Amino acid sequence: MHAMRLNAPHTPLQWTELPDPEPGPGQIRVKVGACGVCRTDLHVVDADLPFPGHSLTPGHEIVGRIDAIGPNVTDLHIGQRVGIPWLGHTCGHCHYCETGHENLCDHPLFTGYTRDGGYATMAVADAHFTFPLPEGTDDVATAPLLCAGLIGWRSLVIAGKEAQTVGLYGFGAAAHIIAQVALWQGRKIYAFTRPGDTRTQDFARSLGATWAGGSDELPPEQLDASIIFAPVGALVPAALKSVHKAGRVVCAGIHMSEIPAFSYDLLWEERQLVSVANLTRQDGVDFLELVPRVGIRTKTTAYPLREANRALDDLRHGRFEGAAVLVP
Ligand SMILES: [Zn+2]
Ligand SMILES: [Zn+2]
Repeated sequence: MHAMRLNAPHTPLQWTELPDPEPGPGQIRVKVGACGVCRTDLHVVDADLPFPGHSLTPGHEIVGRIDAIGPNVTDLHIGQRVGIPWLGHTCGHCHYCETGHENLCDHPLFTGYTRDGGYATMAVADAHFTFPLPEGTDDVATAPLLCAGLIGWRSLVIAGKEAQTVGLYGFGAAAHIIAQVALWQGRKIYAFTRPGDTRTQDFARSLGATWAGGSDELPPEQLDASIIFAPVGALVPAALKSVHKAGRVVCAGIHMSEIPAFSYDLLWEERQLVSVANLTRQDGVDFLELVPRVGIRTKTTAYPLREANRALDDLRHGRFEGAAVLVP
């Protein structure tokens, strides 16, 4: 097999030939059809997340077909189309696993970080952390659903059912997917982009956003909730200003630059500031069941696997709308 490997932080990924991985007990191996490029992959490369101390293959939005099955896998079969997300393994017996919060497991493995991921021609995953996918949809179009879609979904759920007006800070892969879900649910979307990024603002309006503007602007009305997808700490006080009394601000990213000091007035009056970490398997089941009902369409830019470094660079500089996807 071949993979784009990260050998040390802050270095380009290297095209590398490796022995084909063998699935262990409870595991499957897929031939990768497509793998999305997530902002978390940039945080891994840049060591915003602690470097695990060994070479790794990034990528946790994997769509593929099972081509080998390890012992004790009974519910998946060779040739089946599956998706592999960020949450690759949990211990099953810590406090969080036992209380329905496996996203916070004390001893997890994460695909494309502490376990090899999908910037590769093949990947191995735990069968129990793999989502069966329907036939008949495109691999490239489906890949961003596996993290951008899932984390967006968890963030929207945490924003609250009662939130009818929702601000989205950072209108990239996650926001453009979850905006479609929120609109389908009858909510209104307000999109905040980098100041002056009229192209992305136009993109948000074309998807149905009620309003789109720069993150330095206030929305035309105070919102019920805002979700921050951009990894920019300065957006926290901005988003707190966007919501009314008792409004909720959800930080959806795994990493954020430092949050500047702000006046308590912004949090006062029962505004809430919360974060979203990882996903549970139930999030995946709930969201993937919604995808065909909503008719979600992802906007993607495909790159050959060997050009993963270019895809990451384009993501870093906001050079495309929607999501980048690698194709082996
Ligand atoms: Zn656990
Ligand atoms: Zn991700």
